[in-house]
Amino acid sequence: MSTATTAYRFDTQRVRAGYEPKEHNYAVSPPIYQTAAYDFRDVENAKNLFNLSEEGNLYTRIGNPTVAVLEQRVAALDGASAAIALSSGMAAISYTLLNLAEGGGRILTSPYLYGGSDDSFKKVYPKFGIEFDYAKNIDNPEKLAEEIKPDTKAIYIESISNPNTVLLDVDAIAKVAHDHGIPLVVDNTVATPYLYRPIEHGADIVVYSATKGLNGHGNLIAGLILESGKFDWEGSGRFPHFGEKYYTLRDPETEANRSYLEVFPDYPFTTRVRLNYLNYFGAALGPFDAYLAVIGLETLSERLGKQSFNAAAIADYLNAHNSVEWVRYPALRSSPYHDRYKRDFKNGAGGLLAFGFKGTQEERETFLNSVKLLHYHVNIGDARTLIVNSPQTTHGELTVDEKAAVDIPENLIRISAGLEDVADLIADLEQAFQRAAGTGVGFEPALQRAAG
Ligand SMILES: *Cc1c(COP(=O)(O)O)cnc(C)c1O
Repeated sequence: MSTATTAYRFDTQRVRAGYEPKEHNYAVSPPIYQTAAYDFRDVENAKNLFNLSEEGNLYTRIGNPTVAVLEQRVAALDGASAAIALSSGMAAISYTLLNLAEGGGRILTSPYLYGGSDDSFKKVYPKFGIEFDYAKNIDNPEKLAEEIKPDTKAIYIESISNPNTVLLDVDAIAKVAHDHGIPLVVDNTVATPYLYRPIEHGADIVVYSATKGLNGHGNLIAGLILESGKFDWEGSGRFPHFGEKYYTLRDPETEANRSYLEVFPDYPFTTRVRLNYLNYFGAALGPFDAYLAVIGLETLSERLGKQSFNAAAIADYLNAHNSVEWVRYPALRSSPYHDRYKRDFKNGAGGLLAFGFKGTQEERETFLNSVKLLHYHVNIGDARTLIVNSPQTTHGELTVDEKAAVDIPENLIRISAGLEDVADLIADLEQAFQRAAGTGVGFEPALQRAAG
């Protein structure tokens, strides 16, 4: 871990943390170390790198200097003891869950989930002996404790849920988890550390899809896992696998095998992911994508600030519109999460919002087919504004009843506000509403939808 920049404030760290030009031929912008492997200095160096007694690069699958800049920078922004970057958000989630519950176990999860998480929790993990309990009391932490079972390995939540922007009481949920000796995992993809730092609210593990707001340009797929370094894995009693002793971790003097907890007490979780899961399952992030993500991070605050501004303006516009049934956006006074937003989100509510289209299915489809400036596709956190009918796409695998239970009604439309001039975005939405209502087009927005 580079500690040189950790004393600085957020906006300094997002452009400086984890990188020292003098360690890289004085290059100001982090170089792209486009190499698969690294020469050994000599036989002694090879031996030391393999038995982990010396830090250094060996093979890009498990470590790369450009990827390390991304890891250390995000760790600094989140106040984590360490981070590991992976080739997607789904890799970050799956390695986290396997590292927690390998060999079998349960995860107590919030029902308000990203579609890919929800689908895989139901369909894929049970085949590996990992079962999910969908919490009935996620918004009622006193009763949530009753849902923790003897083999529950963690509580899993999203800080701002995708697509319906549910904000949970993370501090209270963390307390329930810790009272029962289990860690809290928070998917902080939508918020990013600019809006919310889960570790400050008690999270033990934070996962990201860096594909979204962290990078913010819709031009790569990447993920990260972070750890607080504070969870007592040994004391919990639920994680004997963290105490397993490995030959690769042996003491260079005594030759005795050692565990991750002994050798890496401040970051056993991410190190175990790196050496067991990344090493052998192999979802490595390439140096070029890591470089793009680092460049994306440099404008994190400005992007999330402008996206919060644009989303709030769009939410206000939609809230007053007669073709709109309801709007979900935490910064709106009408939001059930407004008080929590006021308490925990000092920098804004972010770019994600959802609304209920008032009208028939056909009108709703005409509306979506009529947007010109907004991009119709499944991504979020891009510099461009995106729109999608989540219940029929990202959350299409849920039954109508399941959708209703998690507040994703059939008429939900999700918007991820970008960085355009919000007047152009609102004009585009307005002409699409008018087309859908069959009232003709009031005006054409200045920009045409980009080709493709
Ligand atoms: C997109 C997303 C993921 C998955 O990330 P990928 O980088 O697409 O694999 C996980 N969680 C949330 C909240 C997301 O929005």
